[in-house]
Formats: sequence, C-alpha cells, structure tokens
Amino acid sequence: MRRSQLFIKTRREAPADEEAKNAQLLIRAGFVHKEMAGVYSYLPLGLRVIDNIKQIVREEMDAIGGEEMLLSTLQHPQIWQSTDRWDDAKVDVWFKSALGEGSEVGFGWSHEEPMTRLMTQFVSSYKDLPIYAYQFQTKLRRELRSKSGLLRGREFIMKDLYSFSRDREQHDEFYATVERAYHRVYDRLGIGGITYKTFASGGPFAKFSHEFQTISDIGEDIVFLDQGKKLAINQEVLTDEALSDLGLDRQSLVEKKAVEVGNIFTFGSRYSEPLGLFYTDEKGVQQPVFAGSYGIGVSRLMGLLAELFADERGLVWPSVIAPYKVYLASLGDEAEVKAAADEAYEQLQAAGLSTLYDDRDERPGQKFADADLMGLPYRVVVSQNSLQAGGLELKKRTQTDTRTVPQDQLVQALKNSLQE
Ligand code: ATP
Ligand code: MG
Repeated sequence: MRRSQLFIKTRREAPADEEAKNAQLLIRAGFVHKEMAGVYSYLPLGLRVIDNIKQIVREEMDAIGGEEMLLSTLQHPQIWQSTDRWDDAKVDVWFKSALGEGSEVGFGWSHEEPMTRLMTQFVSSYKDLPIYAYQFQTKLRRELRSKSGLLRGREFIMKDLYSFSRDREQHDEFYATVERAYHRVYDRLGIGGITYKTFASGGPFAKFSHEFQTISDIGEDIVFLDQGKKLAINQEVLTDEALSDLGLDRQSLVEKKAVEVGNIFTFGSRYSEPLGLFYTDEKGVQQPVFAGSYGIGVSRLMGLLAELFADERGLVWPSVIAPYKVYLASLGDEAEVKAAADEAYEQLQAAGLSTLYDDRDERPGQKFADADLMGLPYRVVVSQNSLQAGGLELKKRTQTDTRTVPQDQLVQALKNSLQE
C-alpha cells in the first residue's frame, strides 16, 4: 500500500475526549475513529489488525472442529423470554428498540439463545452430536462505564463458539480441547507467558467457569496468581472453600490486575431445556443437549496489545498481527532514491512481505515519527546517504540500531529476521 493513497492522517496530539491510552494511540496512528464513548470504527490499518487477530483465532477454532457461521444481530424477544433473559432486570446490558405495533427487537449482546434455538432445526439424534459452531460478531451492550477504549466497548467484536454435546463426558473432553486451543491463540499473539487460566464463577452445571486473564495494570479485574502452577483465581470467587477445592495455598498467591481476554463456560441444559433442544440417545430416550460457550474478545485484544507493547514513540505491533510487516520510506526527491525505493517496494511485495510505502513528499522527521507511531515491525529507509553506504537502511521497531543492507539482500534479511 502506498502511503500517498491511504486517506488517513496521523495526529501529534491525543484527542481531548479520549482517556484510554490504547484508544489514544490507535486514534493518533489512524487505526480507529471514535464515534462516541465505547464506540469505534476501524479504519484500513485497524481493520487489518482485527482481521489478523481473527485469522489466528479462526485457524485454532477450525483446528478443533469449529464451523464458522454468522448469526443475526437483531433478536426476537420471545426466545429470550423463554430463558428469562429478556427482562432488563435480569440482563442489564440490553439495547432494545421498538418495532411498530407495540413489538420490540433486541440487539445481540450474546448468542446462547439464538444458537440453541437454531440447533433445534438440525439436532434430533445422538448421531447429530457433537456440534461446534462459532462466529465473529459485533456485540452490542449497554455498558455503563466505557472509559477503557477498546477494552470495554458498547459495540465490540467477539468470537463466540458454542458446543453442543451428548453428555457431560463429551462436553468435558471438548472443554479441555478449547482450553488448549485458547492457550495456542494467546501464545501466537505473544501474550502466552502473561495469560493465565483463571477460575471464575460457575453456575448450576459447573462449580467454576474459566477466564483467560492477561496480567496488566490496565486491567479491570483482580486475580490471584499461583505462578508455579500457572493458574489464577478471580477475586470474585476467592474463598477458603474454593482454595481448598482447587488445592491452592493462599500464602503462595500474588494479587494482580488483569484483562479478561477470553472466557469459557459450561451451561449444560440451562438453555436446551427451555428452548427445546433435545435428542434421542442410543437407547431411544430423549435427552437435553449438553452445551457450553467460549468467548474471545477480539477488539479487546487489539486494544490490549496496542497498549501493552507500546513505547513512548507509539505502537509496537507483534509481527503476526501488524497491519503491514514493513514501513518503507524514501527520503528526498532525487530520482535515484525514488527508483531504489520503488524497486524495494516491488521486491517486498513480490516476496509476500506486506509493505506500507511512504512515498509522500514529507520531511524525514515526519516519516520517522509516523513509522514509530504506527508501529510496523520493520522500517526500511532509502536515502542518498543509505545508497552511498551501499543500500537500504533496515531497523526493527523494537531496536534503535540500524544496519545497511544491499538492495538485493533486503528480502532475505527481512525473512531471516522474521524467523528469529
Ligand atoms: P467482562 O467481565 O469483561 O464484562 P464478560 O464476562 O461479560 O466480560 P463475555 O460475555 O463472556 O464477557 O464475553 C466474552 C469475551 O468478550 C470476554 O472474555 C472479553 O474478552 C470480551 N468482552 C466482553 N465484554 C466486552 C466489552 N464490553 N468490550 C470489549 N470486549 C468485551
Ligand atoms: Mg467476566
């Protein structure tokens, strides 16, 4: 992509109405646009980051048998009434709207009910199970506090997977499989080392649910870590009884702030029974389907990764989710510089190294500042100086030193570095 064709502009100052550092940086770098509190639009670079996060999640969900689909946002009150989750007194995050003639629709804040109801069309026998269906969806929630930028949106992107199993045994096995897949997702995103499986409140079908909490001071949750066991327990469920159930020792726990980046939940027949999702087992007996739900906060992850890895100069994307791998800048308007930069752009593109080419007529200082602010993993600069020194100047976003690479070795140098 040529920078001269990209409509976005970077900003020196953070917008006055934004207090969260993640959103401030993303707005300054032109990745998102703030519509109102808790509501952001994704601009071309921001959308590429979202898509890269989704792709990692998608690969891991597909690998464990997930089938991707997309449910509707508009929700019929009736199915939520049948599980007693339509009433605002029961679920306080609903956005609802009138639909003439005294009827209403809701805007999906979660999808247990519609997904369960939908499955009644397709499930009748034990042979139809298990089913693992997931989607990436924009959820709408009337969050009262929305001051953490992308970490708590009123409109946000979630991956939600729902499992429909024959019985608890089949469910438990898949639940453990999802746990492993989640760890792979967080490892690939570069936060595996600081993301803990965390015990949280369960429900009638399981003593605990599990959250995946990334340790960070920007988090809204308080968790207690057992570093040796690589487990945590959410403050909300920290009782002597819970500790003894889990074999955890209060003395060895450390209190930390954390960001909930995912959560998995066993809900058994909580929704299957009222919505009529039953199947006939091998013996011909009717049974309720045993279900679970598994969320990952895609846009929250974008905000978290933006803030977690940033430095005083701007964003620092892990290369797997960076919108482009390389920020290529030409400095000066000499013909040989332009020609060398154009050639480098062609070479990088041909080699599959996605590149944002700053071909604008801007001062070097502005180009360097933009490269740092946008946080692409590599910066390649072509100038008369670099050509005199024998090629192009290569620098990692996370390092200060630069090195000169001959033009015909640029692609290989980058490929080697990306593999390190
Ligand atoms: P929280 O405790 O943070 O309010 P939740 O328990 O309501 O989250 P779920 O409904 O299970 O969350 O949603 C699954 C995932 O979606 C969460 O683990 C989180 O990563 C993300 N998420 C939830 N609410 C928001 C929000 N308002 N903005 C952005 N991401 C969110
Ligand atoms: Mg929660």
